[in-house]
Amino acid sequence: MNYYVNENIRKTERVFPQQGRYGYHRYDMNENPEGLPKAFVDSVLREITPEFLSIYPEPDRFVGKYAAFLGVSPENIVTTNGSDMAIRYILETFGEPGKDVVTVTPSFEMYWVNCSLLGLRHVPVPYNDDMTIDIDRILAAITEDTRVVVLLNPNNPVGNVYTEEELQKVIHRTRECGAVIIIDEAYHYFYPNTFLRYAVEEENVILLRTFSKLYSLAALRLGAVISNPEIIHYVKNGRLSFDVNSAALLFAERILDHPELTKELQQIEQEGKDWILKELSSRGYEVRDCRGNFIFVKPKHEAAAVAKRLEDEEKVLVHAYRQPLLKDLIRVSVGSVKAMAFFLEAFLRADS
Ligand code: PMP
Repeated sequence: MNYYVNENIRKTERVFPQQGRYGYHRYDMNENPEGLPKAFVDSVLREITPEFLSIYPEPDRFVGKYAAFLGVSPENIVTTNGSDMAIRYILETFGEPGKDVVTVTPSFEMYWVNCSLLGLRHVPVPYNDDMTIDIDRILAAITEDTRVVVLLNPNNPVGNVYTEEELQKVIHRTRECGAVIIIDEAYHYFYPNTFLRYAVEEENVILLRTFSKLYSLAALRLGAVISNPEIIHYVKNGRLSFDVNSAALLFAERILDHPELTKELQQIEQEGKDWILKELSSRGYEVRDCRGNFIFVKPKHEAAAVAKRLEDEEKVLVHAYRQPLLKDLIRVSVGSVKAMAFFLEAFLRADS
């Protein structure tokens, strides 16, 4: 080829999400399988006029409301096109080509993908065979060459969480080494603890939230970075001017206008999760509450084969893994009791 291609982009091997998922029952990507209440969606859609669509997005009104909702200041927040884009911006801003980004493994894949695209050195810290992670191993991986440390709380997919004391140790170590910490709270609301306070008070802690999970807006792409004003200033400096669309901002604003909706969504998911964990356990299945809107179940037959049968015969999508640590499990996104009852029937047939 007679043109230049960025070497990091050329050599990164991507696996893109499956298309055509509309026709399936979706328990594979930690979305809400049923979405927001229809009446709520219809009422917000009525606000989308030709004028609304003709104006470039203005995030400030949403940011003001979101800041009040979180109990922080608007200077602590920048919105992004999904937390996916937040990950890109933060690694671009605080990562240094050739230097280290420390994450646990397995974890959300976009961390290593962005490291590869940006020429950052990914330093993966593996789990123990019993799915625990040693904080000392994470601490030992942080060196003078580390620029970013990533903690997902809870981690996707393993579902472990960190204590306040563990976080404090990581903060201490990263400060010694001149690195920042990303705390990814994509699954906040399913797991109520938060390290938000550290993001506001510390010099080097960056928190991520998303509207794709509990708030069921994965299609609209809305994420938020929460940190001290200096970090937010740098992230804003590096971002695209209009990377969050107005429809996403409007939907999110209306969600915040109706606090009862948050409670209702939380309750529906919690009931669904409790129900499916109990039903599977009572049938002798090994299960794991992964603390987010997803669980692991260990099928009696080979996990990859059960996932394939679910897809081909039941039109049900779940997530199976190749990594040795998770190869016997399938990850199942959680929704209402009704959504989980549908899954259970299909799963029992596929694993019979
Ligand atoms: N972080 C974690 C831990 C995730 O699991 C996901 C999505 N599965 C994301 C970030 C990205 O979410 P989004 O881009 O939809 O905000």
